[in-house]
Amino acid sequence: MVIKKIEPFIVTHQLSRNFFFSQWTYDTRSICLVRITTDDGIHGWGEGYGPSSLVKAGIEYFKPVVLGENALQEEKIWQKMYLHSLDFARRGVLLAALSAIDIALWDIKGKALKQPVSVLLGGRKREQVKPYATGLYFSNEEKLSDKLAEEAVSYKELGFEAIKMKVGLGLKKDIKNVEAVREAIGPDIELMVDANHAYSYREAFQLALSMEKYDISWFEEPVSPENYDCYVQLRNKTNIPVAGGECEYLRTGFMNLFRPRCVDIAQPDICAAGGLTEVKKILSLAQTYGIDFVPHTWGTGIALSAALHLQCNQDIMPGRLYESEPFVEFDRTENPLRDELVSPKFDIENGRLVVPDKPGLGVDIEDDMLSKYLEK
Ligand code: MG
Repeated sequence: MVIKKIEPFIVTHQLSRNFFFSQWTYDTRSICLVRITTDDGIHGWGEGYGPSSLVKAGIEYFKPVVLGENALQEEKIWQKMYLHSLDFARRGVLLAALSAIDIALWDIKGKALKQPVSVLLGGRKREQVKPYATGLYFSNEEKLSDKLAEEAVSYKELGFEAIKMKVGLGLKKDIKNVEAVREAIGPDIELMVDANHAYSYREAFQLALSMEKYDISWFEEPVSPENYDCYVQLRNKTNIPVAGGECEYLRTGFMNLFRPRCVDIAQPDICAAGGLTEVKKILSLAQTYGIDFVPHTWGTGIALSAALHLQCNQDIMPGRLYESEPFVEFDRTENPLRDELVSPKFDIENGRLVVPDKPGLGVDIEDDMLSKYLEK
């Protein structure tokens, strides 16, 4: 099963309304996908998380390393790519390109063996995964906290049992928004907050103290991803679980988060931290340290499917008779690249996302949809 073709594609969508978070404003979604085809005519899709033009350049860089290899040997190919980038890319978008290629190889392997990726990862431990709604971004509306409360209620009405909102506008505004959302959704829905590393240790500590009474399930990226010590300090000072890792890469990078116990919940992005091959290992490492695992997922249906397969395969640690459920992040912002580009559409049953059971990732991209969203 020789790899014959590697084609990166940038898909884009201009948003009907801008939204922002603590770092920048989104007016467009732009994502780099890769389609890898073998001499048997089987193709697989992968996706990289990061600036799409740079991910595309990274895929071009890896092409000569990957072409001609046996597509079924994803770990051998991973190691070749890793060694071709190690000297200058132990973090960042070149690893997103590596991740995209790796995911496509898992898709190919599943199609070749006629098995879903979750079976190849070791088995399907559940057929459905509990989604949490990611939304509640900022906009320039006058009554932002009312608008956020309204949006949160809409997720509750759709059956979500957990919702994540943004913080990072400054402590006063954040507390006002968190209070409004918690009041609107009531006590029975889990609520998480995400600062996208907007705060210093002191600010994050003050915000955490003020938020404890709102029963927050996790405080995500409270401080800079570079400040491992601040993570540890904060985690020791607040009752709110601390989450992080969407800016971290590879097993070795996650060791920096795990060894000093920076986080309660690890959040590698499968499309950036090293693909399914590496993130499965990061999951094992997290569990070795007794750290929970919920991958960051922010992309097309390819990224969502990869996350669903991994979370369907994850063992709950520690095991118990009445098992808790792993989460999958389900971005609810405007994004047809997630909702329309891939087929079939994702099913929701009883508030749970159904893990695709077709061979490979279980979703595909038809040519007409690809050309509809292809960057012009
Ligand atoms: Mg985040």
